[in-house]
Amino acid sequence: MNKSSAYFERSKGVMPGGVNSPARAFSSVDMDPPFIERGEGAYIYDEEGNKYLDFVGSWGPLILGHGDEDVVKGLEEVIKKGTSFGAPTKIEMEMAELMVDSLPNVEMVRMVNSGTEATMSALRLAKAFTGRSKIVKFEGNYHGHSDSLLIKAGSGALTHGVPDSLGVPEEIGRNTLTANYNDLDNLKAIFEANKEEIAAVIIEPVAGNMGVISMTEEFARGLRALTKEHGIILIYDEVMSGFRVSFQGAQSLYPGIAPDLICYGKIIGGGLPVGAFGGRKDIMSMLGPIGPVYQAGTLSGNPLAMRAGFETLNKLGKNPEFYKKLEAMAEKLEQGILQAGERHRIPVTVNRVGAMISLFFTDQSVRDFNGANAADQQRFKTYFKAMLEEGIYLPPSQFEALFLNVQMTEEDLNQAISAIDRVFSELP
Ligand code: PMP
Repeated sequence: MNKSSAYFERSKGVMPGGVNSPARAFSSVDMDPPFIERGEGAYIYDEEGNKYLDFVGSWGPLILGHGDEDVVKGLEEVIKKGTSFGAPTKIEMEMAELMVDSLPNVEMVRMVNSGTEATMSALRLAKAFTGRSKIVKFEGNYHGHSDSLLIKAGSGALTHGVPDSLGVPEEIGRNTLTANYNDLDNLKAIFEANKEEIAAVIIEPVAGNMGVISMTEEFARGLRALTKEHGIILIYDEVMSGFRVSFQGAQSLYPGIAPDLICYGKIIGGGLPVGAFGGRKDIMSMLGPIGPVYQAGTLSGNPLAMRAGFETLNKLGKNPEFYKKLEAMAEKLEQGILQAGERHRIPVTVNRVGAMISLFFTDQSVRDFNGANAADQQRFKTYFKAMLEEGIYLPPSQFEALFLNVQMTEEDLNQAISAIDRVFSELP
């Protein structure tokens, strides 16, 4: 037994499934996960010393790659002064200013510790602001694991066959209405049937948790117009897409359409645990201590997390060519996948928005959950395992996006594309 499998067995004795987050167990691809020992640039290394080109990047945060020198230097500086105070610090102010100055429609922001907390808190705020209790989410969108959002969820929940978790009380579930992504008629019908009852609609504007699927322009406009008409708060969940599809995130891809609240996570923590939600000042001002909505956190705005996030956003903001590079790489990867598919007669659909990219084993176009779900999962498993053997570390599910980072080189990408070609040539 190799070291990873031995550690996995030990872990299973003391942690449910041996992990602290389900997707890491690789049960979706029927294999033991490698235990990762370290990361450097575009690569990670497991406990055996195997080297992998990393297309997971901690599931999104590591857009600068592993061990970015500015992030590491910043963390070293902070750690000497202390790791946490539970008191206001200058870096929190600087981080909030950086976000408010960089992002459209973010007039005020509050830091939390995860994307789950961000969406959960944004919903509470929307319910308080409107005095209503129902929410609408879209099938296959994932917004973390708070009770009201773990309904027809995407991502790990979907991969593990539990888009609706046990333990979510029925009465909470009843207040979460699910709509079809990119389907305005469906949304209209839901709004008509629940007049004056819906507080908020939450959506991944560029979804990454049912593979990559984005709102059509028409849907985005209709969604904003309809929510406005019905007095419903529109929440964009940009936990994954924020600072990923472009510096200003998915909202910049739909100019002239302003959400009321936006949630962030992943990249804004530079690899440390962070989330944030922000938006309209009149809504955000309902938060304690200046308003009646309670929300708090012992480690919220933690100095290490703020500094890692600040260095990351600062670097991204100053280097617009990073996004051009990421997009060019994703485009090259897309072409590589499509060409390999053609060459070896493997039906593939690649969805890509900027540098957010995913592949589905189907020849049908994929623009909603049903489309994603119809792709060949069995073939994905075989593909995933063979790619791992080639030294390419992918997210272990067709419902996840691939994450590129700025440390990847032309040579790395060529290596990945040749591996895809070899693996496709042997797919049953
Ligand atoms: N929203 C989206 C769009 C996400 O992709 C995720 C995590 N993958 C979350 C929310 C939850 O974030 P976290 O895992 O930090 O709680």
